[in-house]
Amino acid sequence: MLKNPIYAVKCTVVFWNHASEYALEQYAMGKMSEGEVAPVEEHLLVCPHCCERVAWLDDFVESIRSAARATSRVAATGHKG
Ligand SMILES: [Zn+2]
Repeated sequence: MLKNPIYAVKCTVVFWNHASEYALEQYAMGKMSEGEVAPVEEHLLVCPHCCERVAWLDDFVESIRSAARATSRVAATGHKG
């Protein structure tokens, strides 16, 4: 059973050096330098688990940004619109 290649591949993908929560946050917010981004993107190519987390963080970051934009627009003009 241990020689089952499917099982081996699954292990490699699931347990191989996941990007940390912090790294994924920095990546989603575009705060990483090119040298830092490369290994993260390389990992995302093979890891659906981390891809899912980045997609979730992307949505999260975008909703925070649009909330921040709405707030600063109100502050700048003094009224909504
Ligand atoms: Zn991963």
